[in-house]
Amino acid sequence: MIDSPLLPSLGGYINGEWIMADSGATLAVTNPVDNGHLAAVAAMGVAETERAIAASEAAFDRPASLEQRRLWLNAIADGLEKHREEIGRILCLEHGKPLAEAQGEVDYAAGFFRYSARHLDALEPRTLDERPRDCTWHVHYRPARVVGLITPWNFPIGMIAKKLSAAIAADCPSVIKPSSKTPLTMIALFAVLEREVGLPAGKANLVLGSAGPITQALFDAPSVRVISFTGSTEVGRELIRQAAPGVKRLTLELGGNAPYIIFDDADLDKAADQLIGNKFRGGGQTCVCANRIFVHAKVAESFAEKLAERVRSITVGDGMEPGVSLGPLIDANAVAKVKRHVEDAVAKGAQTVYQGDASGLSGSFYPPTVLLDVPPEAACYSEETFGPLVPMITFADEADVVRMANDTDFGLACYVFTANEARGLSVIERLRFGHAGLNTGSGPTPEAPFGGMKQSGYGREGGLEGLFEFTEAQTVPVG
Ligand code: NAP
Repeated sequence: MIDSPLLPSLGGYINGEWIMADSGATLAVTNPVDNGHLAAVAAMGVAETERAIAASEAAFDRPASLEQRRLWLNAIADGLEKHREEIGRILCLEHGKPLAEAQGEVDYAAGFFRYSARHLDALEPRTLDERPRDCTWHVHYRPARVVGLITPWNFPIGMIAKKLSAAIAADCPSVIKPSSKTPLTMIALFAVLEREVGLPAGKANLVLGSAGPITQALFDAPSVRVISFTGSTEVGRELIRQAAPGVKRLTLELGGNAPYIIFDDADLDKAADQLIGNKFRGGGQTCVCANRIFVHAKVAESFAEKLAERVRSITVGDGMEPGVSLGPLIDANAVAKVKRHVEDAVAKGAQTVYQGDASGLSGSFYPPTVLLDVPPEAACYSEETFGPLVPMITFADEADVVRMANDTDFGLACYVFTANEARGLSVIERLRFGHAGLNTGSGPTPEAPFGGMKQSGYGREGGLEGLFEFTEAQTVPVG
């Protein structure tokens, strides 16, 4: 069982009050380190979601000034920073990522609120320089109305920070539905909102429970105008269908299949160091982590050796233990998927360069694994593995590697390593991915817009672009 001053309740938070499910039903939350029981949280449904929407509608009728929103945004960032250790501990226990990484995610989340506070003036109305039709033209950024925010388990605080910071900036009350696998971090966020921020009742509401009834209630409510979702492409497609009757706006941050390209002139040590940080963060369960590593044939063996040397020093175990750099995967299904991808690639001709050992660990563990000469027919070439597998593919020609990298329905992140910056930029221009790193494996940051192309979704979070996600431009010509 988990006990924390930041878990005053195991329920949702509606209209400024903690509540359990009307039915009394609960959902179990487990620790993937040992599958031990952490908590039983409320399993809510349509009725509670409708009450959360009604509370949001009432809050919408009490608009807040830009200055008031700035104060809230900064207070949330302060609250997250103040409680970073305890929120990180809760996150580590329910997700499994190492404690320092979990606490780093809390800092990352605080950054979105801080950034939105700093740049809130971008939402001030503007007046056009031109005077077409003999009128003065003003553009106002109105709040879209109530918004539904649905988040995944892989960044339990990072993903909601992107959405909630933009919703508060736009003055849109929200109904939030976290992943059922990691609801405790979200409860802790609401405890911080309640204690440290003083948001008015109904401005942010938390509904816990399985997705179907909750999201249906969001789609059925005319006042919910935007639904922002981060999760799998499969569910994203379903949401597009559900959005049609009410013509809801969607922001979709979906799955990835990131190529990581290493040319023969690249700094191989740097490419290997960056790959470790990129690939093994969150146990390899991030949407931007390298999924296919294309290495120039001339340097493939030496790069594989450098990489294996680094992977060997990864310590797998309980994220709460000091020195552990790779925790468990989220659950047994996630382990089974990585295992299937490794076995399938090896059966189709890939060579195992390195495989660690997780045999003494009882939870949802899979050891870090490096494969070379993975063929395009392998499942891990086209599917997102979401685990600690590094599948390497060799190439000899620039045009070929661009074609192979783009040979996916996804378009979220890609990475290129070369000493020739002009070539790197020209390759990136031909790659259809929303985030494209040159000589860096770095993922998103609050200051820059982030989002996908192709079936990785649409809309942007972070940066100035993200501030506008929950606004409607209203144009006012004055004659
Ligand atoms: P998921 O299964 O799609 O779930 C995401 C959220 O959607 C959860 O809150 C889940 O609730 C809910 N959900 C599940 N089925 C639903 C349905 N039919 N209708 C409405 N909501 C539904 O994804 P996940 O396994 O949590 O997350 C991993 C995926 O997210 C990966 O594909 C990853 O690439 C992607 N991701 C993308 C980004 C990005 O920025 N593009 C960032 C992070 C992750 P329950 O937990 O209650 O089922």
